[in-house]
Formats: sequence, C-alpha cells, structure tokens
Amino acid sequence: MLVPVCCSGSVACGRAWQQRSSDSLGDSAIAKEGRMMTGTKRVYWDLPFDKAYSTQVLSAEFKDGQLQVVLKETIFHPEGGGQPSDTGVLRLQDQSIQERLGGGELAVSKVLEEGDKILHFVSLSPTALAASLTETAETTRTADREGTTGTADTEGTAGTPAREEVAALLRGANVTCEIDWDLRFDLMQQHTGQHILSRAFEELLDAKTVGFHLSEEYVTIDLAIPSLSEEDAARVEDRANEIVFRSIPVFAKEYEAGKLPEEIRTRLPISAENIRVVYVGDFDACACGGTHVTSTGQVGLIKINQIDRAHGGVRVVFRCGNRALRDYRQKERFLSETAKILSQSWTSVPAAVTGLTDKVVSLEKSLEDARKALLEQEIAGMIREAAGAAAHEALVKHLPGKSVEELRMAVKRVSEAVKVPAVFFTLEPRFQAIVASSDSKPDARTVTARIASLVGARGGGTPQLAQVGSKEPLEMDENEVKQVILEALQDALNH
Ligand SMILES: [Zn+2]
Repeated sequence: MLVPVCCSGSVACGRAWQQRSSDSLGDSAIAKEGRMMTGTKRVYWDLPFDKAYSTQVLSAEFKDGQLQVVLKETIFHPEGGGQPSDTGVLRLQDQSIQERLGGGELAVSKVLEEGDKILHFVSLSPTALAASLTETAETTRTADREGTTGTADTEGTAGTPAREEVAALLRGANVTCEIDWDLRFDLMQQHTGQHILSRAFEELLDAKTVGFHLSEEYVTIDLAIPSLSEEDAARVEDRANEIVFRSIPVFAKEYEAGKLPEEIRTRLPISAENIRVVYVGDFDACACGGTHVTSTGQVGLIKINQIDRAHGGVRVVFRCGNRALRDYRQKERFLSETAKILSQSWTSVPAAVTGLTDKVVSLEKSLEDARKALLEQEIAGMIREAAGAAAHEALVKHLPGKSVEELRMAVKRVSEAVKVPAVFFTLEPRFQAIVASSDSKPDARTVTARIASLVGARGGGTPQLAQVGSKEPLEMDENEVKQVILEALQDALNH
C-alpha cells in the first residue's frame, strides 16, 4: 500500500507527517491502498505535467442520480487534505459509443477517493444525451405510477439509451482524460508553495503547521505559535522566495513502512506498506499524496497577505505564482485609482487619507457645534413665540432635519419654559415624535400610544417624556400629521 498521508488527511500538508498525532488521522486515511493495487492507478503522481492521458473505464454506475466513473488509471487528483479536486473531461474514443450516446465528451466536475478507487463524478454534457436521460426519468416516473417500477429505467424510450444502458456502454470504453490545466497548475503552485512556506516557518521560527486549506481565492496555513510579527513573517517570506529563486528540484520517493529516513521520521503509526515522501531538494521532506510542480521556480512568487489569530494560534493567508500576480495587479489598480482620486502619488496615499480622515473629524465637530448653536437659537425663538401667544395651548412643531436627540432636548426645554405640553416631530427619513408634558397632564405615554395607534407606529417613555416613531416613512404630509397629534393630545386630555 502506498500512503498519501499528507494530502489525503484532514490536517496540514506541509509538516503534517511530523506533528500530526495518531488521533488526528483516522485509520481509513492511513490504510489507503496505492497505485499498484487493484484500484485506480494514480498517474498524476509520476506525470503531474500531463494534461491528457488515455485509459479505460473500469466501472460506471449511477448513484443518487449522479454518474460515477472509475478508470484504470487517472490523471485527475481527488479532493482531500485541504486541496480541491481536479476538473476536466473524459473524451470517448469509440465512434459507435459516441453515436449511441449522442456525444463524446463527459464533463468531470468532482473527483473523490473511495477506498482504493478514484471516483470521477461525470456530467453528461452532450445535450442530446441529457435530453434522453430526462425522457428516461419521465418514463420511469410514469412506470412508477403504473406499478411497473424497474422496467422503464433499463429500457429507456424508443431510440434513446436508458441510464443502465449508458453505464453499460461506458464500462470498458477507451477514454482520454483531459484535466483543466489552468486549475491543476494553480493548485500545484499553491500546494508546493505551501510545502516551502511551512518549512520556512519551521526553520526560522520553529512554527509548526497544524492546518492547511486551499480555497479558490487564497491559501491558509495554521501555525502552532501564539503570535507572528510582520517582521518575522517578512523574514519567512524572504526565505521561502529564496528557495523559489534557487529553482531546486521537487521530487517524490517511496519508502517501505519502518524504513523512513531519520529526517522524516514521523509520530504517525503508519501501517501501510509504502509511504510517498515529497522532497524540495534538501530543504524539505514531507509525506504527501498531492500534486506538485517539479522545480521550486515553477511556484513563482510566494506572498503572505494576511496574519490572523485562529484557534489559539496564527492563521497565515498567502498566495503563490499566478494568484500572487493577479492579487498584486488588483491591489496596484486599486491603489493607483485611489491615488488618482486624491491627486497624489501612490506613495502619498496613506498620508493623504490620514489627512482627509482628520479633516472629516474636524468638520464633523464644527458641524455639531453649529447645529447646537442653531438649536439653542430655535429653542429661544420658540419659547419667546409661545410666551407671547394669547392662549397657552399645546405646542405641535415640525422640525425637519433634526435628530431624535435634538427633538428631545428642544421639546423638553420649550415645554418646561412655557408650562404647556409640547410635541415636536420630524418626517424624514421616517416619522419620529417626542412628547413632553412637564406636569404629566396629560400623561406623555397616553399621547404617544394614541399617536401610535393612529399612524401605525410604536412608542413609549415616562409620563413626562415619551417617544413615538414609525419604521417606514408615513404617507401623510406635515399638516395631516399635525392634525393626528392634536387629536391625540385632545383625547389624552379628556382621558
Ligand atoms: Zn503536498
């Protein structure tokens, strides 16, 4: 058995063989059989740069509505160990099968390991075939309703193959596997870059990798260290890129269990017959079943992008090769666009943004001071106006643009000064009103409850000061709202 320990487990690839405990890797992962056994031969290990490979279908069957194909050999790397699977197509070689199926190209959307086999999840891309299967499914449903389950699925409709026939046609068929090369090369760049970066962290900071994830956008490793400074991260990054620029060979060796060289001795209780170890020259050695480039130079730039705290340790987000280039390009574009908006050079952007932020804070302060001064004047004006009025009736005022806090302060001051109940409100962005009743006659809460029932809002507060507001803007104008409030006041007074 050959053990793809690193990349088939759920823990970090890079240094996994050194620090992964027996608890973290189940027996099923350890006991995987390798390419020399009865299962699928993993051609991607020896030929990671092969984009196409001809082989034969060993088995094909529908499970849960999905066609699953097992090949004699495969260049498709299955999902596992933090790395997504390859995608691509299976191209049928036999003309007669192609004609019967209505097309010769089967899309591989996902690849998974199952025991010693590698399952290719295949979509039937030819539209004719897809249509035929839909018809088959219809026939099956009809058959189910008529109590003849099991016959239609094997027969299909006239002139179209049923699922069982599709599977039977594929078994033993000659196919050419074609992987999505851009995806494969990207995964190899990220994965090999992770080996190098994990080793560099261990070499310089004694920081072991305990987690690894390769997503569509970026790659993360989790390090068993409490913190990581930017300076240390930069040193590790420099060391990793030095290994890249030396363009040293990346290769794999297989060892029988118990015959692992000292430098890759592992705490893992490996019970398999063979262990695959991936070497980055004499810089790193790691048990791994993934796909890797053949020279560190092919990894391209290794760039750490972010350092986060995670699970009591440190999570490092990084990108390699083309991903690093795309990320650099995008960030440079954003930076230059920002510089253009600011009419500054890119090096002056931080200082310019800091200057703008300071200016905003200062302007906000000035605006707040001006609003306060204006409100004081308005309050004084309203008190004068109310004091000069012949009859001391309740005051209802629309104060557009005022915040709830400003309304509250104004209504309280005016109501206390002229000794009458007062209701101040705004309509934008939504209805808000504050009721002040300094002697609790009427109870401010009764007023807000009445307003709330009339306009469909919610309110509450104390007998002296209560608030009412709507979630959405009211479909009433200023005068209609005033009328509602006056009615509410009158009702509350008569209460
Ligand atoms: Zn690996």
